[in-house]
Amino acid sequence: MNLQERDKKVVWHPFTQIKTAPLPIPIVRGEGAYLFDEKGKRYIDGMASWWVNVHGHAHPYLAKKISEQLFTLEHAIFSGFTHEPAVQLAERLLKRLPDNQSKIFYSDNGSTAVEVALKMAFQYWSNKNSVKTKIIAFENAYHGDTFGGMSVGARNAFNLPFSKLLFDVIHIPVPVKGSEKETMDALKKAIAEQEIAAFIFEPLVQGAGGMVMYSEKVLDEMIKHCRENNVITIADEVMTGFGRTGKFFASDYLMHKPDIVCLSKGLTGGVMPLGVTSCADFIYEAFISDDKMKTFFHGHSYTANTTACSAALASLDLFDLPDAFENVHRIEKKHDKFLQKIKSHKALIDARQLGTIIAFEVKTEEHTNYLNSLSEQISAFFISKGIILRPLGNIDYVLPPYCIKDEDLDYIYNAIEVFLDEL
Ligand SMILES: *Cc1c(COP(=O)(O)O)cnc(C)c1O
Repeated sequence: MNLQERDKKVVWHPFTQIKTAPLPIPIVRGEGAYLFDEKGKRYIDGMASWWVNVHGHAHPYLAKKISEQLFTLEHAIFSGFTHEPAVQLAERLLKRLPDNQSKIFYSDNGSTAVEVALKMAFQYWSNKNSVKTKIIAFENAYHGDTFGGMSVGARNAFNLPFSKLLFDVIHIPVPVKGSEKETMDALKKAIAEQEIAAFIFEPLVQGAGGMVMYSEKVLDEMIKHCRENNVITIADEVMTGFGRTGKFFASDYLMHKPDIVCLSKGLTGGVMPLGVTSCADFIYEAFISDDKMKTFFHGHSYTANTTACSAALASLDLFDLPDAFENVHRIEKKHDKFLQKIKSHKALIDARQLGTIIAFEVKTEEHTNYLNSLSEQISAFFISKGIILRPLGNIDYVLPPYCIKDEDLDYIYNAIEVFLDEL
């Protein structure tokens, strides 16, 4: 039996319709921006292996640092105990995070980083003896697949079977160009009428919602309004963090900083699962008490896993080298140049770019969403060209590891043009 047949017998894949999906491609090796299959065919990883990879696959420096850690201390309980990798990572992340951030809480992935943020916000108000239980989130948002994450996410095909089980959230319009006032009005109305605990958002780019982009100006105004009205702000930087938008964090574009920040994906360089929720001092202080009921009772078996923390530290070492951001800016410039060339293509509804992300909304007869049938057509076309791009419905995007070579970007751009010309 080959690997695909063995896989089909025993494995259930994420976000995959079992009946219609083509068999998964067996990947045996990675190097830089490339993945290689069993037959030795090379693919350019145009989507950074689900937005996690930043420095390239099987990076020797990351492999070395992680393996050294494995021979020293692979994991230890984090309640009542601590270790160098977790403390050092917190110190180094806080140097990079907005100045108002003061504590780091560890968990396992992006969804748990969001759960922790929501629970911190709800319990903050509970510890203050205040009844604030409503959350404001954007329509079209994605914050993960756990129940809290789904609740604050858009109500769509992803979570329809669970819709009755999700907690109530006030969804307001995304402030895309031209809708800024509508969004501000909706935010102000919600805050004026209800007891709002927190406002959660993906700063500047909504990832899974289709790489929808909006300006830092309106987000700044929203955060300012929240702060003036005692609403906690939560920036879900799970996708936007670690250079993705052209700055280290998308929050670096803002004047008004969020109270809580969620990180994962690029945090470990895309090597190990790890989640981080950072918070401002006033939040942490609300949990310091003689009353044990004010404790934050949350934790995971693998909280602050030593090996994952060492991967994140090694990734930060690489970010300290000048070429990490030279690469980010190189990709940014090349994306922008291609955007200018392609944006008025007749097969496109819209094209947009921020930092290392470029997205193309392809014209379609169908209602545009994630289930759009163009999706499979697009994936198959690029796979045949040796490029891994999995569109979000009719929205295709390139979000590469930063080490991707210019000629590989050009090869992807060229394939995109060929695809659009043939539509
Ligand atoms: C991917 C993502 C998540 C969920 O992260 P997982 O590690 O997949 O659980 C949450 N928020 C945003 C913005 C994401 O892009």
